[in-house]
Amino acid sequence: MNLLAGPMCARCGDSLDRPSVGPSAAPVCRVCRLAPPPFVRAVAYGLYQGRMKEAIHAFKYGRLHPAARELGRMLAKAIGRMSAEAPRDMLVVPVPLHRSKLAQRGFNQARSLAQHALGELAKSDPAWKLTLAGSSLMRLRETQSQAGLSPRERRLNLRGAFAVSDPGAVADQHILLIDDILTTGATARAAAQALLKAGAASVWVATLARAQRSFAPGQSFGENPRDSYRAGPAPVELLSSDGTHFSPDPLPFYEE
Ligand SMILES: [Zn+2]
Repeated sequence: MNLLAGPMCARCGDSLDRPSVGPSAAPVCRVCRLAPPPFVRAVAYGLYQGRMKEAIHAFKYGRLHPAARELGRMLAKAIGRMSAEAPRDMLVVPVPLHRSKLAQRGFNQARSLAQHALGELAKSDPAWKLTLAGSSLMRLRETQSQAGLSPRERRLNLRGAFAVSDPGAVADQHILLIDDILTTGATARAAAQALLKAGAASVWVATLARAQRSFAPGQSFGENPRDSYRAGPAPVELLSSDGTHFSPDPLPFYEE
């Protein structure tokens, strides 16, 4: 598996080109510096590539449920990396699918992963007091692909996509948001904003895999034919749970 290594952004977990300037300052990527995310920190078990990518696809589209237990163990390890700083008592909220997508796929992979991870943590680290709140967050509408959208269009694309069904249930609670993949982080930002608006005390994010936003010159992750910088190796298709595409655009998605 492609484990994450090297200097990482203390907020979103993206890899950093340069280590932090001082020993005390937590390193933060350009995107998080320009537009700090509403969540405290996002962790992932590994990179969305190679065997990890295959395993997630097998689970999500092939409904290969034996893979779910192993992936749940990995997600539990990712959550474990937060243990030094995150509250131990959290409400676990899987990123919801829109009901049409749920009907099509038959299950919410984020919810299934959360269930397996919680089962694993209950055995391996009982200090966690994690409660699954599978229906606290609702996806109000299907969001179109993020590929080729400007930062403003991305923002509009996800604006109002999430709502909290019962604000009383999340008010003053620390929330652990779960998804299979973190791509641009726009989905996690939109979901976290909805939870904070409903009164959540803080939002933390754990995913199985993350796409690396930082990219080497000559590489392109975009699928937009207008991408003028496409060159070199064939583009890697990166799809998040909601079908939003990863794009190399390093601009902030939520400026306000
Ligand atoms: Zn960051």
